Amino acid sequence: MTSRAIPNRVRALLVCPSCRGELRDEPGALICDAEQLTYAVVDGVPHLVKELAKRYRGSKSGRA
Ligand SMILES: [Zn+2]
Repeated sequence: MTSRAIPNRVRALLVCPSCRGELRDEPGALICDAEQLTYAVVDGVPHLVKELAKRYRGSKSGRA
């Protein structure tokens, strides 16, 4: 497995870099429900960059 959990103390600080809203956890991703954006989490490192975010299309997101 390449996915690792984000440490709780780190996760607690994370917000959407675009709207500063709360993020929802999904396996391998963090979701901004307000904007329907998906931020990838790679090896426990969240890629919270709006330019890298993808449109959220439900939990069965296809990854490239
Ligand atoms: Zn947002």
